[in-house]
Amino acid sequence: LRTLQQSLAFHAAQRPNQPAVLCEDRCVTYAELHRRSNRTARGLLACAPHAGARVAYLGKESEHYYDVLFGAAKAGAVLVPINWRLAPAEIRHILADSQTAVLFVEEEFRVAAERVVAELAQAPRVVLLDGPDGPGSGLRAWQDRYADSAVDEGGGWDDPVAQLYTSGTTGLPKGVVLAQRSFFVVRDAMESQGLEWIDLRPGDVSLIGIPGFHVGGIWWATQGFNAGVTIVSMRMFVSSAAIEVIRRHGVTIACVVPAMLHMMLSEPRVTGAHFASLRKVVYGGSPISETLLKQCIDEIGCEFAQIYGLTETGNTAVCLPPAEHVSGSPRLRAAGRPYPGIDVKIIGPGGTLLPAGETGEICLRTAAAMREYWGLPEATAATLVDGWIHTGDAGYLDDEGFVFVCDRIKDTVIVAGENVYPAEVEGALAKHPAVAEAAVVGIPHEQWGEAVHAFVVLRPGHRATPRELMLFLQGELAGFKVPGSYEVIDALPRNPSGKILRRSLRDRFWSGRV
Ligand code: AMP
Ligand code: MG
Repeated sequence: LRTLQQSLAFHAAQRPNQPAVLCEDRCVTYAELHRRSNRTARGLLACAPHAGARVAYLGKESEHYYDVLFGAAKAGAVLVPINWRLAPAEIRHILADSQTAVLFVEEEFRVAAERVVAELAQAPRVVLLDGPDGPGSGLRAWQDRYADSAVDEGGGWDDPVAQLYTSGTTGLPKGVVLAQRSFFVVRDAMESQGLEWIDLRPGDVSLIGIPGFHVGGIWWATQGFNAGVTIVSMRMFVSSAAIEVIRRHGVTIACVVPAMLHMMLSEPRVTGAHFASLRKVVYGGSPISETLLKQCIDEIGCEFAQIYGLTETGNTAVCLPPAEHVSGSPRLRAAGRPYPGIDVKIIGPGGTLLPAGETGEICLRTAAAMREYWGLPEATAATLVDGWIHTGDAGYLDDEGFVFVCDRIKDTVIVAGENVYPAEVEGALAKHPAVAEAAVVGIPHEQWGEAVHAFVVLRPGHRATPRELMLFLQGELAGFKVPGSYEVIDALPRNPSGKILRRSLRDRFWSGRV
């Protein structure tokens, strides 16, 4: 199987009546998903017949997202899933930049979308997902205008199929163009060596915690469809609801970000029994603290696999396999090792190759990597150099080729020429009994250029003075890494995939400066 549409056709024939997607109280079988996406493809070919037309989806998670994903793939179009939390100006940028031809939108976002569309020079055709009979009935009515006849299920390994806009730490978000192969490389690599790091199989009930507009969400969904599993989709992740969904559907395997694990384990009265059906949890997308990982191993008690990668690498390039999830192992701090056929190197200033143990920029070479940043040849050339994706993450390799991620290079705080990786300081702070979590940023300092500043979320009923925290950290970290100032806040700002928005914490201190 080389394309998403081939996988779907295969499983629609093999297991037509098996649920492909469960969402709320609705169920779509493989046969239905195949038929509905045929109609969607016919509709798209009627509205936007050119190959590579961009098709956007603005809505929360639902089975309709998959109709559109497969419909676009069958029509030779490219899905542009949009984060519904974005501001109108950001949505406008994405629609304009991608030259979206057809926009599928949920009623909840219709008014905002229509306003944005009205401002575009080239307005896309808007298809409302909700109709008079509730969610999805608008899409259904639109689909029913087109024939349910098979669309060419060929297509190529290199055909672009999704364009995902990255979180955009600097400048405007960029469209990362992923081809069909991005969704097959890791599976093929594991199969070639009989590895069972991430072993989706028919009979699995697979929970998607990560939204479909993030690479982790679309990747996890496609891995499930390629394997013929039943996918459980939640409108949006809510930890109490996730626990209930796991029980109700007997979820066997799940993909989540660390923050979701943290939230689920923080639910009142949650016990291992709530997770009894789970055989494996795949997690990644941001660093996980050793404390949380140990808690997961002890309390959830299933197999774990960590994944590390970027939108630009077509999601995971590196995996910490289940066998490495042993309490007390120093490897618990690793992100993992590359899949067969995928390469990792660490480079220093000027691109020099660094030996094991030395920290530099992590570079990844994978056949799953993006084709390009849409319409940005210079940005593409800066990130994708001779087949290597420059990740912007700082890290090192150990003697056996395990990758340790220290931090994003751009979040690195430089204090008088000494590099401080916020994640390291945050990890140390989180060990203090009064600290629930922390975020560390660089703030301007006359003498040192930057100083380390900490935002701290306290555990309910706990207190800690800056002096106490400082004394505590002096036992944990080199002096230059210890924050000189502290601020208690209620919660850390995070994006929907759970990443701490350090930049938004940092900006206040830097406004008016360059
Ligand atoms: P994105 O912008 O969504 O593509 O996120 C990619 C970034 O998420 C990477 O560059 C890392 O900084 C971070 N990331 C993803 N997975 C992991 C992981 N397992 N451990 C640490 N950081 C991660
Ligand atoms: Mg990114």
